[in-house]
Amino acid sequence: MKPVQEIFPLLTQPRNIAITTHQKPDADAMGSSLALRHFFVQFGHTVTVISPTNWAGWVNWMPGVKDVIDYELDKAKAEAILDNADWLFCLDFNIFHRTKTLTEKLKQLTCTKILIDHHHEPDEASFDYGISDTSKSSTCEMVYDFMVSSGNADKINEEISECLYAGVVGDTGSFRFSSTHAGVHDLVSDLKSKGLKHEAVHDKLFDNFLENRLRFVGHVLLHRMEVFYEYNTVLIAIPKSDLLKFHIKTGDTEGLVNFPQTIQGIKLVAVVIDRDEERKWSFRSKGDFDCNTFARKYFEGGGHFNASGGRSSDSLEKTVAYFKQVLKENETLLQ
Ligand code: 5GP
Ligand code: MN
Repeated sequence: MKPVQEIFPLLTQPRNIAITTHQKPDADAMGSSLALRHFFVQFGHTVTVISPTNWAGWVNWMPGVKDVIDYELDKAKAEAILDNADWLFCLDFNIFHRTKTLTEKLKQLTCTKILIDHHHEPDEASFDYGISDTSKSSTCEMVYDFMVSSGNADKINEEISECLYAGVVGDTGSFRFSSTHAGVHDLVSDLKSKGLKHEAVHDKLFDNFLENRLRFVGHVLLHRMEVFYEYNTVLIAIPKSDLLKFHIKTGDTEGLVNFPQTIQGIKLVAVVIDRDEERKWSFRSKGDFDCNTFARKYFEGGGHFNASGGRSSDSLEKTVAYFKQVLKENETLLQ
């Protein structure tokens, strides 16, 4: 994988560009993809964002989201665009299997592939150019760096600012995680000076649910949460029946994993949701417990040091029993 800076001199020649990201894109994934699209169109490129799956309602406000193709809904259109692409940008993931059913198609493409990502252990061999930096708060921060260091800071307009800011807020837990280095605040300062209305973005991201979602949160915290004080751990296991009862949609479960972290002394929070095709795990830790290693070792997943995810093909009961077993193995690390 050659340094991403090597494509800077090539930016001015119009190309067909496809941008993709991980399945169920969150604010960072969707924000970075759309920001880059709004940037590239200013050079005369033809740019399309393709999402491997659907996405949460709380990113639907982002400028340009209406033109994003959901691969699962419109395979033929997405594949025609991919086949015709000169460049494929891969944002906020670093290994093709994070794109679910899009994986095989991406592997077959012969166009130039460019990675911009901040997760651990990138599959560098799959990309021609790129940057992988786990010290970055978010892919949106990296896309901002890309725009500025290519000498095109003047192209950062209102649409781009909103998209980038949303991703940075999402991935830094509103500037509270340790990944929030000084440069993140410099970035925000720059976007503010360009006219960003940050309060509107917070409102659209966090105060934009329906009543059922809040009732669901209450139900889950009361009935589905187990606290293991001996392991400084909280587990929330959500059966499919809860998702049906409260009419839960993609994105409604986002943020649930943060609530138990408000309990004094809690080091690890694990949430598992019984989705149709798999049991999906989310892990969050505080301090020196490495969620990335934990998810990789036990739950076919990965992510960051203090935030990761994984999966299981077992039933909810089985994967929960397995989690409790591995908690014992990790007892010392959780003290
Ligand atoms: P979340 O819990 O918000 O879904 O994910 C937390 C972090 O872990 C995100 O950075 C996400 O990209 C990453 N992540 C979530 N699930 C997986 C997974 O199955 N595999 C890998 N490698 N990373 C994941
Ligand atoms: Mn991210």
